[in-house]
Amino acid sequence: MAIVLAKDDLGGYLEHLCHRFVIYAPIRKEGTITFSIWHSDDEVVLDYETTNTPLKKSLFPHSEPLLTYLDDVVTTPTFDLDLMVFGINPQDARALEILDEAFLKPIEDTHYNRRRKRMYVVGYEGAKMENSFGERLGLPSPENLDMLIMSEGDKYVLQTITDRAKDLVKNGFVKAANTNERKISIEENDKLDLEKIMSFLDKGPDQPIWHELAKKCFACGVCAYVCPICHCFDVEDRPSISGDSGDRRRCWDSCMLADFAQVAGGANFRKGRHERIHNWYHHKFSRAVKERGVPDCVGCGRCIMHCPAKIDILGTIEKCEELG
Ligand code: SF4
Ligand code: SF4
Repeated sequence: MAIVLAKDDLGGYLEHLCHRFVIYAPIRKEGTITFSIWHSDDEVVLDYETTNTPLKKSLFPHSEPLLTYLDDVVTTPTFDLDLMVFGINPQDARALEILDEAFLKPIEDTHYNRRRKRMYVVGYEGAKMENSFGERLGLPSPENLDMLIMSEGDKYVLQTITDRAKDLVKNGFVKAANTNERKISIEENDKLDLEKIMSFLDKGPDQPIWHELAKKCFACGVCAYVCPICHCFDVEDRPSISGDSGDRRRCWDSCMLADFAQVAGGANFRKGRHERIHNWYHHKFSRAVKERGVPDCVGCGRCIMHCPAKIDILGTIEKCEELG
């Protein structure tokens, strides 16, 4: 079903939706665009370039309680809000599909799923993001949208895809329209040779390129925090001083950090910075491809934008392709 919405009515439409949903949208804040909870006076930027923070924080917060306890009573958190991500572009929608696979298959992560099953996904035929190289990865089109928004002159065309999305267009802001069905896709251009990249990555961490990158890398973990797909976490018990209450939390972690692979007794399986950098690339472009057929990267470019050492993932995988 296709419906039109006047562009001037976007704020009113979102206001209507937010009676039911907590809406995450690309919002302009202090000169940058970030996926945040929308409030009435926020400016939504549907043609966003690259958001500062990835959408994953709405489903996998950077720190969240898994359980709390008081004396013998253990409580696990519940979640009873309907969520919506509004205006996600094709690459970020594809990243969400990969995150879903990581958290829901083969074993379902209940903490992730209690939010994900209540989240509606509204996509937008977005602009190409700054530093993005998704077209070089041969990414499949995302299949996880409830509704698709397209821009046409002074209107948006809203195309419902799932049955549950029909509720999103039952209001006075929208009108029925005769338009053709469309799908969003990620263009393909100058595709990288993943076989060659994998073959080089499988040679292990002792290649000169990883030692060279290790001299530049600060091991800060920022690349993983801003990545819409990286999902490593740590679990921490925090008892009160008396010990009769406390909580267990999970927090974002990064395999780039020095103590990530450290175990009891102090042994560290990836002590060398070059080993950790190699591992990050090897997971994304070799192990993920073998497990799921596609890399754990959608080429969004956030890690390029935010790396304090100016390490460029595209330049690195192009080098791997050349050496593979
Ligand atoms: S953001 Fe850059 S400097 Fe920091 S860990 Fe990642 S590659 Fe290294
Ligand atoms: S470009 Fe960087 S931040 Fe974006 S998906 Fe790939 S690894 Fe993650």
